[in-house]
Amino acid sequence: MSEHVDVVVVGAGFAGLTAARELTRAGLSARVLEARDRVGGRVYTTTLEGGPWVDLGGQWAGPTQDHLLALIAEHGLPTFGTWTRGDNLLLVNGRTRRYRGTIPRLDLPSLLNVGYAQWRLERMAKKVPLDAPWSAPRAAEWDRATFASWLDANLRTRTARKLLEAGLETVFAASAHEMSLLHVLFYIHSGKDLDMLLGSDGGAQATRVDGGMQQVAEKLAAGLDVRLSSPVRRIDHDGTGVTVHHDGGSVRGERAIVAVPPKLVAQIDFRPALAGKRAELVRRMPMGAVIKCTAIYERPFWRDDGLSGMSVADEGPIHVVFDNSPPGAEVGVLMGFCEAAHARELGKLSIEDRRDRAIACFVRTHGPRAKDVLRYADHVWEHDPWSGGCYGAFMPPGVWTSLGPAIREPIGRIHWAGTETATRWSGYIDGAISSGKRAAAEVHARARA
Ligand SMILES: Cc1cc2nc3c(=O)[nH]c(=O)nc-3n(C[C@H](O)[C@H](O)[C@H](O)COP(=O)(O)OP(=O)(O)OC[C@H]3O[C@@H](n4cnc5c(N)ncnc54)[C@H](O)[C@@H]3O)c2cc1C
Repeated sequence: MSEHVDVVVVGAGFAGLTAARELTRAGLSARVLEARDRVGGRVYTTTLEGGPWVDLGGQWAGPTQDHLLALIAEHGLPTFGTWTRGDNLLLVNGRTRRYRGTIPRLDLPSLLNVGYAQWRLERMAKKVPLDAPWSAPRAAEWDRATFASWLDANLRTRTARKLLEAGLETVFAASAHEMSLLHVLFYIHSGKDLDMLLGSDGGAQATRVDGGMQQVAEKLAAGLDVRLSSPVRRIDHDGTGVTVHHDGGSVRGERAIVAVPPKLVAQIDFRPALAGKRAELVRRMPMGAVIKCTAIYERPFWRDDGLSGMSVADEGPIHVVFDNSPPGAEVGVLMGFCEAAHARELGKLSIEDRRDRAIACFVRTHGPRAKDVLRYADHVWEHDPWSGGCYGAFMPPGVWTSLGPAIREPIGRIHWAGTETATRWSGYIDGAISSGKRAAAEVHARARA
């Protein structure tokens, strides 16, 4: 005999937890089934033996991410700003230069070219409606093109091309040739503009939670009915309700909210099989690939040289590095983003080999002292069965315009949440939270009808 609740929520990431919280507050019973033995999903804080805590998944909050900022404030969690004092480093065409701010000092033609490309992308992005990218005036044309083909046509200098591509790979965790131009424009608009997506001070990389972002998910989960280590394998659904089967049994509900990445929706056995375009949509939304390579040092030695720790390189496997030290800087932490094809290659190696490759990149930008690593940590998200990649799913050419309208459309008694279904800050924690609120409101409205 299965237990009975009003709503079964699949996935205890920020989207699923938020949905459950909203429903519980509205007086409905909600059971969250989570595959992992922890909550937080793509937000994952771990404490290394000998310290410190490190965020191997989502970690930053930034301005206009109001859902996330409110949640952090509600739970009184202390925050601190990303360390940005000092010069950043730019390694391009084998030469290292120092610079300040978001845009590096380049030769004049490259600088003008990057500025022009940014202006054009942002102007086009504003024309993409966040709730219906497929209805943008030039949607068909933009969705036929890859982002790489747009870069080919609009970036004239090699340096400008390499740098913009390296910077944007860190935003998308996917390569320019994999993504539709329409998707890139939607994503830029979803996070406001490129300065916001790329920036630390005043941008998406502005603020961290002392002790790690996963605490926010743990606070959110407190008091909710969350069952860990309960992967959902099958969902039976009809006009009378849903029965959700997981490894520990089954739960009957009036409705279900599925709040897992699209690729993992495709692995759940829906009976009857999902009708309409949504089943095809989730099969055509691949995930990005990212590894946050994290090295711990006795102290943030780069600060002695007036450096911020931030660097951008035109060569992989790590393009962008941040000073990810804890607020008191009791140790120094360099965190390098390894993305897309580089992440897929690095992910095939042993942890020892990944560490060696990452340290070589840190030495290349931050000098020989970067060899003196105390500890190293990373997480290969692509191989994690309960994420299947990261930061999130993206749309290859043709998908938004042919299947996009199915992204949030409930199928019978099954509703959809998850950052990929968000309109603002899609791909980010803030988008996950707003998607959970939207899905809960949908269910609540039907429960009252
Ligand atoms: C390396 C990295 C860095 C990032 N950096 C940032 C950042 O700095 N700022 C930011 O805002 N965002 C960042 N992100 C993105 C952010 O973490 C995600 O957008 C957000 O956490 C997604 O939340 P979600 O609830 O939609 O999905 P998820 O967090 O993926 O939650 C889905 C949950 O469902 C569970 N699940 C999956 N399948 C099943 C199943 N069959 N049965 C039961 N449970 C299942 C999973 O275990 C997971 O807990 C980053 C992500 C990564 C990986």
